Amino acid sequence: MVTIDLSAAGAKKAATRLRDFLSAAGIDLKQTHAYEALARTLGYANWNTLQATLSTPGDSAEPKSAATMSVTFWGVRGSFPTPNHVIYGGNTSCVEIALGDTSLIFDAGTGIRFCGEAYLRRQTRSAVVLLSHCHWDHIIGLSFFAPIQTEGWRVRVLAGGLADRGGVGAILANAYAPGPTYPHPLKNWYAKDTTSYEDFEVGDVLTDVAPGVVIRTAALNHQNGATGYRIEAGGKSVCYVTDTEHVPGKPDQNVLGLIKDADLVIYNATFTDEEFPSKVGWGHSTWQEGVRLCKAANAKRLALFHHDPDHDDAFMARLEDEARNAWDGVIVARDSMVLDVN
Ligand SMILES: [Zn+2]
Ligand SMILES: [Zn+2]
Repeated sequence: MVTIDLSAAGAKKAATRLRDFLSAAGIDLKQTHAYEALARTLGYANWNTLQATLSTPGDSAEPKSAATMSVTFWGVRGSFPTPNHVIYGGNTSCVEIALGDTSLIFDAGTGIRFCGEAYLRRQTRSAVVLLSHCHWDHIIGLSFFAPIQTEGWRVRVLAGGLADRGGVGAILANAYAPGPTYPHPLKNWYAKDTTSYEDFEVGDVLTDVAPGVVIRTAALNHQNGATGYRIEAGGKSVCYVTDTEHVPGKPDQNVLGLIKDADLVIYNATFTDEEFPSKVGWGHSTWQEGVRLCKAANAKRLALFHHDPDHDDAFMARLEDEARNAWDGVIVARDSMVLDVN
């Protein structure tokens, strides 16, 4: 066991000892699997276990600087939850983007359950959920989002392009209709009197969702439609672009416009280019297309997201190596990962 003195005076010596310790253990932190090796060397089952031991996402004791945008991935899996994929994670889509005291939630997949627990601990008493669309993997967690089941919490749920199909409130009420498929219908949720369901047109610029935050929206290429988001605040920009299918050789102009010069792009990278020909029409894109779009749009970093349920941890590790070799701006999103955008 290595003992590290983190006092200011000991910091340099500690850093040197840590480097020597890692080197002696054969761990090169530049390598993709280094974190797994480090976790095992320290006696943990894997990196996720080590992370969970050290901290609970969403409970940071460190106040973030007002200029730091923070992104927490509560669920990164596409289409279907996969609890057997323990390293990259198995919860379906849910991402929290925070700037100072303001925090927005994107999608309500199974990951939103853990996000809701963090909200309850913070006692903010209000929450905003923006949906990319209403496919099951993006709404299945909404009923398990603690604030929406706690009397007195003010919850806003927003979605684009659904007004002429009855509106997001009616669509969700229908999904969570009274029996026989679900015992606790939306009309009985405990924060029902303080929850609003709000529609906007895809392409709208939303300026009244949170103070100091501008949210741009664009249509994505997906069955039944989906909305891509660009969140701008404090001089930083993060884009949430899922679910969407590309057309090979024809970069999606909507996506390019949305992600131009962005600091971070979270992108629907369900497949690889090699798999794509057999997946045309499924409504999803590839990590290689994400790289091409980010480079063309001068975006700084790309987080691969909405992973295929069939891509197990070994497959994802190979994919991560390949993608990072292709472009060092790539990050492969994992459940519980927190990224700061400075
Ligand atoms: Zn999806
Ligand atoms: Zn979808």
